[in-house]
Amino acid sequence: MPETPPVQDPSAAMPETREELLKLLDRETAVARATDGRLAVLILDLRRVDRLHALLRGPSPSMTMALVLERLRKALRPEDRVAPISDEQACVVLPRLAHQSQAVLAAVKLLRALDRPIAHEGGSAVLRPCIGIATLPEHGFDPAELLMAADISRQIAATREEGYHVFQGDEAVEAEVYRGLDLDLERAIRANELELHYLPQIDLASARPVGAEALLRWNHVKAGAVPPQTMVGIAERTGLIGSLTFWVLNAALRQASEWKASGRTLRLAINLSTSTLTDRELPAVVDQSLKTWGIAAGDLTLEIAESAMISDAERSVAILTRLKAVGVRLAIDDFGSGFSSLSHMRRFPLDELKIDRPFIAGMLSDAGDRALVHSAIDLGHHFGLRVAAEGVERPELRSALAALGCDLAQGDAVSPALPAAAFREWWTVHASGA
Ligand code: C2E
Ligand code: CA
Ligand code: CA
Repeated sequence: MPETPPVQDPSAAMPETREELLKLLDRETAVARATDGRLAVLILDLRRVDRLHALLRGPSPSMTMALVLERLRKALRPEDRVAPISDEQACVVLPRLAHQSQAVLAAVKLLRALDRPIAHEGGSAVLRPCIGIATLPEHGFDPAELLMAADISRQIAATREEGYHVFQGDEAVEAEVYRGLDLDLERAIRANELELHYLPQIDLASARPVGAEALLRWNHVKAGAVPPQTMVGIAERTGLIGSLTFWVLNAALRQASEWKASGRTLRLAINLSTSTLTDRELPAVVDQSLKTWGIAAGDLTLEIAESAMISDAERSVAILTRLKAVGVRLAIDDFGSGFSSLSHMRRFPLDELKIDRPFIAGMLSDAGDRALVHSAIDLGHHFGLRVAAEGVERPELRSALAALGCDLAQGDAVSPALPAAAFREWWTVHASGA
């Protein structure tokens, strides 16, 4: 049943706008300071809301936000206040708390309230929101300080894929370090300080190696190993993503040409980030790089996350078709997490379907995961695709996947990702079966 948008109840005196909420926050922080009281500021981020709208097509983002706010209000105490700060974010003020832990309890309650699918006329979908938490007196006394701390926590919760995050004093410092990293990343790309590791991929039926997925690595002098997703996140926010993708493409193809010169032709895959799908130059850049390094287009696979492909299916079809015309192979990555419909699958010019790691990890213990893996393999084969499993951590997963007819596997049960030299050795040792 579609939910109806909330009817406004004037007696509730809820702040409806960001401005009203900020005024209220001003008053409540003053009260808390005067009475040695406690208060919390929560920022809730809907995160997948763009994807939800791409999927459902019908409702406007503000309509979703209205339904979300209604659920939040029902979960809150009468004295708590909530208002939207954008179509994707809402701010919650929890005045007069007895203890900091009440803020966490409230966050858990709010997340639970959003657990049930949001139903629209076009269908229903589950949101995966996250919440950043800051409290007075622990994290500041004035509204601006608290809002900033809650927002940093929101970003941390989103990056770590956690439901909520409570601000830690030194995270302002961490955020500064991250701000510095964008400049360092630019330098690292130019100075060739990044590295690719190669995750071997085998054919499950013959156990022979077929190629590798190139994975980005950056060992920062101060910050240590920076996770590739953080690097990509920084690059997307700061406009460096084009240069980063170009670096990865060329580093992988240069390596492939070196291996080819020593008599080993293998398939390499690289990952493309979401924003790459808006880059009109990409097909020409890929074509040119292949020519530069003398690699056959069919030996390069581009992996694009399912969620990225379906967030704007029309645009994805257009760019994927142009990439396909270059001759490269296209893989739908992290399959299973993004609710692809059959109609999408039919329109994307794909060669390979990669089942996301969590489903593989759960397939022997969880009936739902097993069903998903099973049907993903059937679906892929039905569309003439090769099906790959990622995160094959244990030998029993490997044999179960082989029995289901899955074509390719990668993960710890095959080999971890290796630096170029170690990968070459691994290949030599396992050429006739891994
Ligand atoms: P992904 O494309 O799903 O890549 C697979 C990730 O799972 C890799 O993590 C890999 O090291 C890890 N993995 C593989 N087998 C196993 C296993 O058996 N067990 C466990 N626990 N993990 C396994 P990594 O290297 O940290 O990469 C994380 C993500 O970062 C990748 O996910 C990909 O989305 C992104 N990424 C990596 N390199 C690049 C790049 O060059 N460009 C872009 N745009 N994204 C990249
Ligand atoms: Ca991948
Ligand atoms: Ca994955």
